[in-house]
Formats: sequence, C-alpha cells, structure tokens
Amino acid sequence: MYYDKNTVLFNNGKFLKASEVTTDLYGQTLHYGYGAFEGIRSYEASGKAKIFKAKEHYERLKRSCDLIHIPFGYSVKEMEELSYEVLKRNDLQDAYLRPLVYCDPNMSLNKPTKVNFMICAWKWGNYLGDKLLRLCLSSYQRPNPRSVKVEAKACGHYVNSILATVEAKEKGFDEGLLLDMYGNIAEGPGANFFCEKNGKLFTPPLGNILPGITRATVLELCDELNLPYEVRHLQPSELLSMDGAFFCGTAAEVIGIESVNDVSFQKPWSKTLGAKLQQAYSELVREKKYRSERIK
Ligand code: PMP
Repeated sequence: MYYDKNTVLFNNGKFLKASEVTTDLYGQTLHYGYGAFEGIRSYEASGKAKIFKAKEHYERLKRSCDLIHIPFGYSVKEMEELSYEVLKRNDLQDAYLRPLVYCDPNMSLNKPTKVNFMICAWKWGNYLGDKLLRLCLSSYQRPNPRSVKVEAKACGHYVNSILATVEAKEKGFDEGLLLDMYGNIAEGPGANFFCEKNGKLFTPPLGNILPGITRATVLELCDELNLPYEVRHLQPSELLSMDGAFFCGTAAEVIGIESVNDVSFQKPWSKTLGAKLQQAYSELVREKKYRSERIK
C-alpha cells in the first residue's frame, strides 16, 4: 500500500529501493520510540509538485530532535531539496511525505551519538473531506508536558494517539478528543482542535498540544479573512453551547466535527466559519487563490 517494487526512498545519503532497504533490529527508535518524524503533504499545482510549508515542517523536525536530545545535522534546505527529489524519483505530485529520524543500535537509555534519516513518500489522493466526524471524549489524556516534550513530534508519543483512536473506534466513533492533564480540551490523536460560538473561533493554546502547522495556517487565514478568534483553554462542558467545531492537520486538512459524545453542535457545518476555513485552506494548499466573495 505504501510502496511497490519501484518505489524509491532516501536513506542516509542514498536513494534506494524501498523494498530493499533494511534496518537494524537493535535500534533505540524501534525499542523505545525514541525518534522524531514529520508528516508533510505535497499538492499538484500547475502540473508540478508543491510541498506545503516544507520549511515549517523541517524546522519542526529539527526542533523535535533538539527537544529530545537527538543530534541531527541536516539543514532545512537540504531536507527540502531531498523531499523534492524523492517526489521526482517516484513521479509523485499529490503525495504524503514521511521523514523519519531514527537512532542507531543501542539498548541503553543514553542519547545517541549517530542517527539516521530517511524520507519516503506515497500517493495521497486529492479529495476534499466532506465527511463530518463523530467524536467521543477520550479517556486518555494527552501526554503530560512534565513527562515528555509534548511539543516534539516524537515517535513514542504516538502510542497515546493509537490508544485514543482504538478506544474511539471500538466505541463506534470516528475519533477521540483528548483532554490535557488539567482537564482542558487539548487535541485529537493526530490533529488540532477549533470550535466556534457566535461568529468567533476558539482554539487551545500551545503548551499541552503539538504546535500544528495547519493550526498556525488556520490562524493566519483568520487574520487574512478577518475572522475573530481567541486562543484560550476550553472546558469540555463548553462544547454543549458551541455552534461548530473542526479538527485540522496536514493529513485531514480542515475537517468538520458533527458531534462529541453524540451531542451535536448548534449549527449545520455548512453554516459555520469552519466550513469557510475548510474551503480557504483547501484553495490555499492547492494554490487556487480563494475568492473573497465565497468567504464573506
Ligand atoms: N496534533 C497531533 C498530535 C498530530 O499528530 C498532528 C499531526 N502532525 C497535529 C496535531 C497537526 O499538526 P500539523 O498541522 O502540523 O499536521
């Protein structure tokens, strides 16, 4: 599904067949989840692949490594160029890129002296999400920022995301909504959260969430489109009176939420600011200048 016999990836300075690359089973990343990664999208624009916010993603990768003491020497520019090369060698335009910084064999709990870097990519359909999500409040909290570097996109943190997703699906929901250690709304397993009331958007502050690049882009769009917003902590009880809500992330873009614990939002999705932002975001990443008359 992710690769076939022709797929090429970048690994430690070389472009290699994905089906032929091997990894060491004694690696620290495999055993302890001690590694960092990114999730990036490329979109076809005027017949060419255009990576959305490559610089921001690779800056976050470097910051993730710094935060968890993984020495990582690639520059943002090098990584961006390598990403385009991976896309080119696989003839991909609408694609998802997965760079991964992973550690050498080491069974100790020390920081590594040498790390490895790979970038792979696979085709990602260019469809618009018109589906709405049914969420449940997760029984899992987001990782405590005093236990891990919650702002790092570290491999091991995703056990928490998997637990929350499995729980939600086993209960018959699409996704979970996780709270932080203080009981504030935090984020989804792989996306940031926004909600809105009386024409104003709300989103939790940084600190207990992944600093999403899509979240930052949505806030930029709000500024551009003069949509009022407030970054503040939100209590789950506040959801009862909210007009609407959405998740946002590189993979899902902006995706509307129908209900949380089967309680629906006050307005139909199409009447929310979220729906306008969904359209604006979609046009931005695909380099179709959003038309202001559709946004008003
Ligand atoms: N939160 C979590 C936990 C995530 O895994 C992601 C996906 N990277 C996001 C938020 C959204 O981040 P971004 O917009 O940078 O994809």
